[in-house]
Amino acid sequence: MFCNFYLFYLFIPSLLLVLITGCASGAPITIVIVPTNTPLPTATPSPSPTFSPTPTMTSTALPTATDTPKATLTFTPSPTATPLNTDTPVPVATATPLPLTSTLISTEEVSQTFLSTVPDPTFDPVSTLTLPDNWPCDCPVEHVVIITIDGLRADALPEADTPILDTVRAHGAFHPQARAVVPSVTLVNHASILGGMAPENHGIMWNINAPDLGLIRGPTLFSAAKAMSMTTGMIYAKPKLEHIVLTDSVDILEHGGYHDIQITTNALNQIEAGLPNVLFIHLPDVDSAGHLTGWMSKMQLWTLEATDSYIGAIILALEQHDYLNRTLVIITSDHGGVGRKHGADTPEETIIPWFALGPNIKQGLELNEPLFAYDTAATAAYALGISIPPEWDGQPVLDIFY
Ligand SMILES: [Zn+2]
Repeated sequence: MFCNFYLFYLFIPSLLLVLITGCASGAPITIVIVPTNTPLPTATPSPSPTFSPTPTMTSTALPTATDTPKATLTFTPSPTATPLNTDTPVPVATATPLPLTSTLISTEEVSQTFLSTVPDPTFDPVSTLTLPDNWPCDCPVEHVVIITIDGLRADALPEADTPILDTVRAHGAFHPQARAVVPSVTLVNHASILGGMAPENHGIMWNINAPDLGLIRGPTLFSAAKAMSMTTGMIYAKPKLEHIVLTDSVDILEHGGYHDIQITTNALNQIEAGLPNVLFIHLPDVDSAGHLTGWMSKMQLWTLEATDSYIGAIILALEQHDYLNRTLVIITSDHGGVGRKHGADTPEETIIPWFALGPNIKQGLELNEPLFAYDTAATAAYALGISIPPEWDGQPVLDIFY
């Protein structure tokens, strides 16, 4: 048993974080110094060198889930929503064993994301974005870009400095309390976001990469677009999302790495090479930070601020390559979290933000009608002129369109 100290040098001004994990009383101490732009050590503790903890190190303020004031969540169940009950464990299909445990979630997502090598960014993060007050043309939507910020709780936004998302909100439509489906985990919700269906209909009720469990029940947004001879792409951080990829439904399928920087780099390269009609971009770091230091911890909020700047780079690239006037950009999340976990049916885990930006999208609109994860696919399909498949539960969010 080891007591590991991870020193994270995130190259965000004034950020030096000391993270202590897995500390057992009386256990030997291993200190691992982790600059995020150099190769990281493996997650396996090294037997040497060993150090004794010093008062200075152990007294360093740790970001915890409790040291950041939380914004108040208001939560109004809608008639059509799955009733939420914080006392009820994750509702799962009783007929099928669900390989979903907190151990699986934390082990897979954390070890593969933050504890792997982070490359230097090959792009400039963008902290300011100039968008038109009025779109210069009444252009038809030819592309949809769906960006998910994995693990972003809606009430994290007011606690962090997110100038890009603020700009998107001011120049587009925004729902502050959209709804994830339950179980509130990555794969189940991405299947709804991209598959247009509630879990009982898309069939994915697990959160691991297990090819034997099969694929989503279609059609998905990708397969519906392909049926209309459109092009599709998916740049993602977690290979388990391949459960959403029906045969021949995604033209450009890139597991782009385990970090936002890598995903963003790949997305920028793809935009330069040519934007498909449907492009999904999955940014994992906010979720990884939540598992490491807690949802709403300072570390997670700082991570969100970095993610915000990467989204700025993506939108700027869309503009510079003359796509933005023809593209609907939807930015949302798959779930929130509480403590260092997620998966259950609580407001903290299921209320997510939802942004829409583009030509013919109302500016400065705040939505308040119920909006569910599966409505994202329907909204994207509607914008592209694709008929909503009858199998889908989702409805297009018509209010956002002029
Ligand atoms: Zn997670």
